[in-house]
Amino acid sequence: MLLVSPSNRDASAAASDGEQAPVVREGLRSIVIDPGHGGQATGTIAANGLQEKAVTLDIAIRLRELVYRRLGLQVQLTRDRDLDLENVSRTEKANNWGADLFISIHANGFRQTGVRGPETYFLSASASDAEAREAALRENGPDDELSTAGAAPEPGIEFILWDLAQTQHLRESSLFAEGLQASLNDLWRIPDRGVKQAPFTVLRGATMPAVLVEVGYLSNPEDAAMLADPDVRQRIAEALFRGISAFREQYAVLAGAPPN
Ligand SMILES: [Zn+2]
Repeated sequence: MLLVSPSNRDASAAASDGEQAPVVREGLRSIVIDPGHGGQATGTIAANGLQEKAVTLDIAIRLRELVYRRLGLQVQLTRDRDLDLENVSRTEKANNWGADLFISIHANGFRQTGVRGPETYFLSASASDAEAREAALRENGPDDELSTAGAAPEPGIEFILWDLAQTQHLRESSLFAEGLQASLNDLWRIPDRGVKQAPFTVLRGATMPAVLVEVGYLSNPEDAAMLADPDVRQRIAEALFRGISAFREQYAVLAGAPPN
C-alpha cells in the first residue's frame, strides 16, 4: 500500500491561492546523516570481511564533508565513531536538533548473492514487496516489535502513532528518495532496483523528510568489492550529495521560497 497522497500538505499549492502572502518556509538549512548500525551491531558482513557498520560510517563522514563544504548546510551525524546506538535514538537526535532532512545510510544483505545494486526507501506501514519487507526486518534488528511479532506482523498501535510523525512528510520523502536513487543508478549502471517503501524503525518517528539508502549489497561479491574501495565510497558519497543538492532545489520550490 502506497501512502503517498497528492493531497498531502502542499505548500506550493497554498502559495498560489489568494493574495495573502503565504508563510514562507526557509530553504533547506540542515541535515542529519545516520550511519547505520555500530558497536556490537555490525550489520551485514560481506564474504570479504567488510562490515556494514564501517562502510556506512565512512560514507557518512565523506558525505558530511561534501554537504558542509559545497552546500553550506548545517550537518550532524548520529554517530561519528564505532558505537552502539538504538534506531529510535537516531531519529530523536534529528528531531531534537530540528533538522530539515534525515538520511540513514545502510548496505544490504540477501541470501541470493546475485542480487546487487542500490535501493532507496521511504516509510510505509507495510512493505512494497517481499524483499523490502525482509530489508526492514533485518535493519530494524532482533529487538524491534515488528521483527518479534511473528512471520506476518501487522503494524502495532505504537507503529501507527509513530507513523504520524512521518506521514505528513511522505511526499517530500518520496521526492528525495527518487532523486537519490537516480543519482546512485548513475554510479552502478545496472537496471534500476527502484524506490521502495517499508516499515523502517529508524524512519517512522522522523519529523522531517526522511529516507534510508542501501548503498549496494554486501552479500554480492561485486558490490562488496566496490564498497571495499575508498574511491568508490567517495563516489557514492558524491552521488548522495548530488541527490541532496537536487532535493534542496525542490525543497525551496515546494516551500514557495527561492533557492538560496
Ligand atoms: Zn543496515
